[in-house]
Amino acid sequence: MRDLGSKSWVAAIAAALTLAACSNKTEGGSGGAGDGQNAQSGAGSGGSSAGAGGTTTNGGVSSITDCGGAPTGGVGGTDGSMTVTLLGTGSPIPSPDRFGPSTLIEAAGLRLVFDVGRGAPIRLWQKQIALGSINAHFLTHLHSDHVNGLPDLWMSGWIQTAFGSRKTPFVIYGPEGTQAMMTSLWDAFSEDRRIRLADEMNPIEGIEFDVHDVGPGLVYCQNGVTVSTFDVDHGDLVKPARGYKISYGAHTVVLSGDTRYNTNVEQAATGADLLVHEVAMIPTALIDKYPAYQAILAHHISPEDAGKLFAIAKPKLAVYSHVVLSGLPSEGIPFPTPADVLAATSTTYSGPVIVGSDLMAFRIDDSGVAMVAGAAGSGGAANGGAPGAAGAAAAGGGTGGTAGGGGN
Ligand SMILES: [Zn+2]
Ligand SMILES: [Zn+2]
Repeated sequence: MRDLGSKSWVAAIAAALTLAACSNKTEGGSGGAGDGQNAQSGAGSGGSSAGAGGTTTNGGVSSITDCGGAPTGGVGGTDGSMTVTLLGTGSPIPSPDRFGPSTLIEAAGLRLVFDVGRGAPIRLWQKQIALGSINAHFLTHLHSDHVNGLPDLWMSGWIQTAFGSRKTPFVIYGPEGTQAMMTSLWDAFSEDRRIRLADEMNPIEGIEFDVHDVGPGLVYCQNGVTVSTFDVDHGDLVKPARGYKISYGAHTVVLSGDTRYNTNVEQAATGADLLVHEVAMIPTALIDKYPAYQAILAHHISPEDAGKLFAIAKPKLAVYSHVVLSGLPSEGIPFPTPADVLAATSTTYSGPVIVGSDLMAFRIDDSGVAMVAGAAGSGGAANGGAPGAAGAAAAGGGTGGTAGGGGN
């Protein structure tokens, strides 16, 4: 019997890896705990999970050596396309309409999940995607709304049924602090692990994890898909906070993470096919009554500022997710609606933009960006000739966004 209390498996990939290019060149970073020779994390996971494409270690620093080749695993997007599904478009607000922030990207046979907010496992299984089938997970920052679905995805994905069935370590990349968080979760769920190992005889490898604290730069490279992360501006005390750029062939998707107007997002999104950006709209009357809203608003971008960024970056399509719409109808302050967000955006931007809703999905290929799934009635809306605008706009009067509260 394995020593379940052992932490030898968390032998630590380097803190703040900075992978300069999709090559064997590595800059920065440092070796993890381990033996300083072989960066390794998760028991027996064999080092960096940057992919079967190949990684090497040198003095404990992990390097990506190859991300080419044909898709070798996974199931999503093997025809050269990328598919982006908004699993959750909400914030800390406990709303049944908008689950916590989480985005699924399928490309080259891979399934990658960015942020794991509340309810992400539910949305995945609504799509009949097994929780254990995700190739890698990425975190923008460690605010609770971005990780509170993580224990569920990790633990439930280990159950050996159709919805779970993970048999290899849970692969996760995030900012500094991610490894420490995973180590704490390992301890927190020790009883579940002890019981399921003995009772269900689940494979231990399926609950182990392969965690990487990563800094700005290229962090993942597999089957021709590259994932880079960059700093964003989520407030002076909310650091690190990052966005992601995911590229496959000639196509690019950018996720803003939580941020105010930020030129790194602007640059990353210039020429991108799809920019998924956060947004917040809080009525002045609400801020006047509850000044705490001012600080919340200060951590996020307004529709007007987002429009300015879209106008400069000119993505083929901009989509709002992490939609913070605060109101207090009981005190005569109605919730802003997706239509309000679009109206405010239109003061600075006339191009295609959509207010996303949970399970809305977009396919990106050489013919452009198309909405392939939209959840009518859950708060979507569109402007500027955006794909699927007619159907999505019809949903704009649905629930009118999310329940009141703050967002971080
Ligand atoms: Zn945040
Ligand atoms: Zn957030």
